[in-house]
Amino acid sequence: MVSASKIMLTLKAYGLSRIAIKGQYDRKWIDETRDKKLRKLVRYCYENVKYYREAFDQANVTPADIHSAKDIYKLPFLTKKELRGRLWDFLPKQIGPCRISRTSGSTGVPVCIFSDENSRMHNAAAIIKYRKAVGIALFGSTIITPLKNEAEKTKKPAWTYFHGLHKTYYVNPYLESQEHFDYASKLFKRKANAALIGITPAIVKLAYQVNDGKVEGFKPKAIITSGQSLSDKQRDVIEGVFSTKVTDVYACSECGEVAWQCRASDYYHINEDNCLVEILKDDKPAKSGEVGEVVITNLNRFAMPILRYKVGDLAIATDHKCKCNRKLAMLKKIVGRDGQNIICPNGKVLLWNQLKGFMNISQVRQFQIVQNSDGDLTVKYVPAEDADTLWISKLIKSRFEPITGNSIKFAIEEVTTINPAKSGKLKLVVSNYKR
Ligand SMILES: [Zn+2]
Repeated sequence: MVSASKIMLTLKAYGLSRIAIKGQYDRKWIDETRDKKLRKLVRYCYENVKYYREAFDQANVTPADIHSAKDIYKLPFLTKKELRGRLWDFLPKQIGPCRISRTSGSTGVPVCIFSDENSRMHNAAAIIKYRKAVGIALFGSTIITPLKNEAEKTKKPAWTYFHGLHKTYYVNPYLESQEHFDYASKLFKRKANAALIGITPAIVKLAYQVNDGKVEGFKPKAIITSGQSLSDKQRDVIEGVFSTKVTDVYACSECGEVAWQCRASDYYHINEDNCLVEILKDDKPAKSGEVGEVVITNLNRFAMPILRYKVGDLAIATDHKCKCNRKLAMLKKIVGRDGQNIICPNGKVLLWNQLKGFMNISQVRQFQIVQNSDGDLTVKYVPAEDADTLWISKLIKSRFEPITGNSIKFAIEEVTTINPAKSGKLKLVVSNYKR
């Protein structure tokens, strides 16, 4: 049974989505809404949250200094280290009903996040908004969601309501059984007009099963990926297999629904009524086309306010005006952080992004670079069908050896699958070595 309070929350989210859908075409509404929320939030933090009172005092700033988004630079940054180390100082004096979640800890240690109803409603409204933009109406759509990992097995179809009232069906692409292949094939045939929505690695896995002829394909009316950055190669695989354009979504536990990719331009619209996003290079706003650090302020969460948070991702800034006529500001591309740097026993640092780049090999479907507890590296990969594994092995060696030198040993392992973490995310570069 759905409780009365959940129904109320859902109806409020639907109401908010209507306002957000209308407002996204009105720049004046966006500016005023964002600035009003920012002023309220900053004042609230100063008066109610120990961490921010101290941080503002130290930076010599008060709520009276913050009038609009233009003043955001006056506020101090927040990093994961502080969020992790001083959790209780981020909670306000009084706290209402909350949901507590943990980030997946892509940098090692997870962070606890308290979400109140206000922020959850606004996140739901943002989801309803971008779903509508790709043709998923508020009521009555069919959604197919691939589950996040093998342990989830299967799940019965259910009506889901918080992000619009839809019938949702589940498939588990991590099951390599005939039973799963038959179930998925039948489902895709029966629900040929469904939207495919799920976490990126799971959708990629499903796409390969269709590609290999294990599961019969279909043409979803929309495909939405989230949870982990989508590489160009993954996008090509999904779009090639399902003949449908992918809409990628940028969201995180700490900041909620941040941005989503518009079909009209491939760039990402920022949910400016939900988040204030800065792209900074050396702590100054990046110019259009430049890569910078993503810094986010969540405008709707009071249970655990997040102000100027250095989330750990990179993005390309843009001043692009979208053809779709929405007036929401945009990001050109998001470069997520799906790895950790590797520190060799002799202190040499290998950058995860470079290591990840080495594995951009057409005949490799999936990979993971693991630093073992003794400091050595293991490169695991899943080859494409009919791949020349000897050639892959040589190629990997030729790319890794110049940077690892004699500092660490590395082994190459050909595997049939790489299982994601419980969250469904697949860390590409992982270190289990403690110096
Ligand atoms: Zn657009």
